[in-house]
Amino acid sequence: MTVDKTCVGSGKPWTVDIAGKPICPRCRRSLSTVAGKGKTVTNTPKVPRHDRPGRYQR
Ligand SMILES: [Zn+2]
Repeated sequence: MTVDKTCVGSGKPWTVDIAGKPICPRCRRSLSTVAGKGKTVTNTPKVPRHDRPGRYQR
């Protein structure tokens, strides 16, 4: 099996959590965590490439 550290959510559209905040559809980290501070869905319409969290397997 390939060990790919890139989160599967990379390049996908954002999903939103129960509070309506944009999050990665895979790891569920928030936009500010994944994309960085100051980013918004408007200027970052797709989830940027980012590493998968270390111990998160599902
Ligand atoms: Zn992710």
